[in-house]
Amino acid sequence: MSAKNKILVSNIGSTSFKFRLFEMPSEKVLAKGGVERIGSTDCPYTISLGDAAPEKGTASFPDHGAAIRFIEQKLGGFDGIAAVGFKPVMAKGISGTQIMDEPVLRAMEDYNTLLPAHNPPYIAGVRLFNQLHPSLPCIGTFETAFYDHIGPATYRYPVPLEWEEKYGIRRYGFHGASHRFVSQRCAELRGTDKLRVISCHLGGSSSIAAVVDGKAVDSSWGMTPQSGLPQNNRAGDFDCFALIYLARNLGLGLDNVEKALTSQSGLKGMSGLATGDIRDLDEAAAKGNANARIALDMFANQIRRFIGQFLLRMNGADTLIFTAGIGENSPSLRAAVCANLDFCGLELDPELNAATRATETVISKPSSKIEVRVIPTNEEIVIARNAWAKLQESH
Ligand code: AMP
Repeated sequence: MSAKNKILVSNIGSTSFKFRLFEMPSEKVLAKGGVERIGSTDCPYTISLGDAAPEKGTASFPDHGAAIRFIEQKLGGFDGIAAVGFKPVMAKGISGTQIMDEPVLRAMEDYNTLLPAHNPPYIAGVRLFNQLHPSLPCIGTFETAFYDHIGPATYRYPVPLEWEEKYGIRRYGFHGASHRFVSQRCAELRGTDKLRVISCHLGGSSSIAAVVDGKAVDSSWGMTPQSGLPQNNRAGDFDCFALIYLARNLGLGLDNVEKALTSQSGLKGMSGLATGDIRDLDEAAAKGNANARIALDMFANQIRRFIGQFLLRMNGADTLIFTAGIGENSPSLRAAVCANLDFCGLELDPELNAATRATETVISKPSSKIEVRVIPTNEEIVIARNAWAKLQESH
């Protein structure tokens, strides 16, 4: 085996760089941390090496390159690193786990206008790694990869066929690493991979996947990460004719409507609060804020719509999983989603649900026909596993 046995999993945001360093194949986390507010003179950073107490501080990082060089120096160099793992969202005509070379980056660029917040900083970050360390492979698992087996009767939109053939207009799927991780972990915990799973990733952005025997068969997503469930401050699914009416007939203009749908909508927009954080909405609803209450009820309703759809799709389910910030930490939202489901034999245990936060726990009653579990997600490990597997393939 090669002496290089570490995978550096990198997450690049527009002003942040986060990392986790894995030893492979043991999957031991050797280091983790990150830098925020890149571009300012006061960037907070955290670095944890092994079991040592985290080092926290602030420093000036004018750009991502400076932040990466700082982390490299703190890790004692990148010499033992076999590859850098990434979790890019989407590229035109490319999915799966890929070496992030120029053709792949250009296919991501083709979707820059579709994903203006995600693709440009990601592409710049990968190019930076390729420039700083040309011999270090950058390997990305696209978020769409988990859904590559979904069939055309599920992924096609009822629009002219040539829109798909010519322009790639179809449903894809995101949060792939998270849904893959929790459904695999569920199979390990249950001792079988012959399972029908409904995986609810509920966080700053949210989605639901239907998974049969480890493979996604459906998802709440449409073509872009702006679709599907309502999000923190984004609308999710929205009638495209209402959009045309607002933009053209009422004269709001396409740019304003887009801005409202992508930053002033979702739980934030519906509640009228300055935030879409479920904790703030819970607090406001408890104090009698009617719009916060309606936003929370709407969110649970939308989640239940997809769960209902997937129950039919899979002729039932063996396990319902809750993961991510809200799914792991909000007993009240979980209770609202699981209320009145005795028709399909789903019985939540109220005490277990109320007591569970971010730990692997079964929160349904033993008599429940559909088991309900909280499983904290771990997207980074999926990225590290896939990067490691890709390296083994190419050796
Ligand atoms: P994520 O994107 O997975 O990090 O999830 C972030 C979201 O999770 C926040 O916007 C909150 O709505 C929610 N969240 C985080 N912590 C808690 C908590 N302790 N209780 C309830 N909701 C939480």
